[in-house]
Amino acid sequence: MTKLRLAIVGAGPAGIYAADILLKSERSFDVSIDLFEQLPAPYGLVRYGVAPDHPRIKGIVTALREVLDRGDIRIFGNVSFGSDITLDDLKRHYHAVIFATGAVRDADLDIPGVGLDGSYGAAEFVSWFDGHPDVPRTWPLEAQSVAVIGNGNVALDVSRMLAKHADDLLPTEIPANVYEGLKASPVTDVHVFGRRGPAQVKFTPLELRELGELNDVDMVLYDEDFDYDEAARAAIASNKQVMVIDRVLQQWRTREIGSASRRLHLHFYAKPLEIVGDGNGRVSALRYERTAPDAEGGVVGTGEIREIPIQAIYRAVGYFGSELPGVPFDVRHGVIPNHEGQVLHGDDNEQMFGVYATGWIKRGPVGLIGHTKSDAMETVRHIINDQANWWSPSSPSEESVVELLQSRGVEYTDLDGWHRLDQHELALGEPEGRVRIKVVPRDEMVRISRTDAD
Ligand SMILES: Cc1cc2nc3c(=O)[nH]c(=O)nc-3n(C[C@H](O)[C@H](O)[C@H](O)COP(=O)(O)OP(=O)(O)OC[C@H]3O[C@@H](n4cnc5c(N)ncnc54)[C@H](O)[C@@H]3O)c2cc1C
Repeated sequence: MTKLRLAIVGAGPAGIYAADILLKSERSFDVSIDLFEQLPAPYGLVRYGVAPDHPRIKGIVTALREVLDRGDIRIFGNVSFGSDITLDDLKRHYHAVIFATGAVRDADLDIPGVGLDGSYGAAEFVSWFDGHPDVPRTWPLEAQSVAVIGNGNVALDVSRMLAKHADDLLPTEIPANVYEGLKASPVTDVHVFGRRGPAQVKFTPLELRELGELNDVDMVLYDEDFDYDEAARAAIASNKQVMVIDRVLQQWRTREIGSASRRLHLHFYAKPLEIVGDGNGRVSALRYERTAPDAEGGVVGTGEIREIPIQAIYRAVGYFGSELPGVPFDVRHGVIPNHEGQVLHGDDNEQMFGVYATGWIKRGPVGLIGHTKSDAMETVRHIINDQANWWSPSSPSEESVVELLQSRGVEYTDLDGWHRLDQHELALGEPEGRVRIKVVPRDEMVRISRTDAD
């Protein structure tokens, strides 16, 4: 029976689901899958994006882990596509590759002042509080008043993590350096800004509601934002999610405020124009234009310019994919150009045989973890049907890849190594009554993973 040797790059949910779906699918050939991941730990943004105080979502790791623990997928952690292994290497050793590299950096916000000290991308901050090995250990939490730009769930995560008292995060898996950083934060006011109105936010109700449950944090809303026009009223009446969001916001408006030591302000109809500096290169204010509904569900500028003093600003305006060497890339949308997961190249958008994409790098950084499953099904279906166009590798044996990585001195980690690191983190958490304490430095992760290796 023919055997498909498949490489998958990226061990986030998209990569792991794709492997699982292919292994379980009806097909006329055998499959052997190698999963390459640049980090020493798998699970992508479930480990390094989902907020630590969302244990239910973090729990998806259990299902992903079960897939890996079955033992029919080899995992090579700490291996970066582009530097440790290239497309030519993959063509020598595999019949096809799926790129599932996600989107890990911030989309640009093109306004003056983004380069000032105190202006941060949400993705960097998320990486810090989730203990990503490639960001600095310390984070400058020195501001009393902070702005967060964006009206999606990442903006909610960032504002919640900024406003929440560090002790309320202690039961979670936050690393020690993150707890200490947040504990020392002098923040009193977090201001969230959205260009549009309350009926047009991209928050999901569950995540929004959570803000109102924070200990010792008042929710502050402004009456001027709730003068709904016909389009907003229609959206509330016709869409259950918008209706629930409106209900949550209206309920907060009736609350007594003033007793909490921290406040979380929601500002709508506010279009950021400029991050204003203090003359010494540091953020001192956000200048924005008041917008108004345009009667069609959008907004227009009113010409009224306002300024709010702040000392730090977080831009939560979306994530963006990164280009991979030798792989086509759509620079406008930050994705690998594809048709239902079949990668396209050239001016005529022809299929690039043997190359596939899935997850956020396939369809852009929107949607929940569950969506990566349906995504993977579509991509896998094409791999199965494309058998005639797979690559013809000169060295398809399973050992040849190991030899290649070893010959290059790549300190890769494997499934046993991940188990060791996992156990180590759980054991660190146990005496303190915490789920786990993450190991943050990459060299330490690799050392623990490879302790008994070789
Ligand atoms: C801040 C934040 C919070 C979120 N919260 C939730 C939530 O509460 N609930 C929910 O359902 N969804 C949530 N999501 C969405 C969810 O994380 C995504 O839907 C999902 O992770 C996308 O999966 P993916 O596998 O495509 O990408 P990723 O999870 O990003 O995985 C991609 C993997 O590829 C690896 N990789 C990248 N480049 C290379 C390379 N060159 N070589 C080797 N490996 C590489 C990365 O290290 C990563 O492990 C959140 C997202 C963010 C950003």
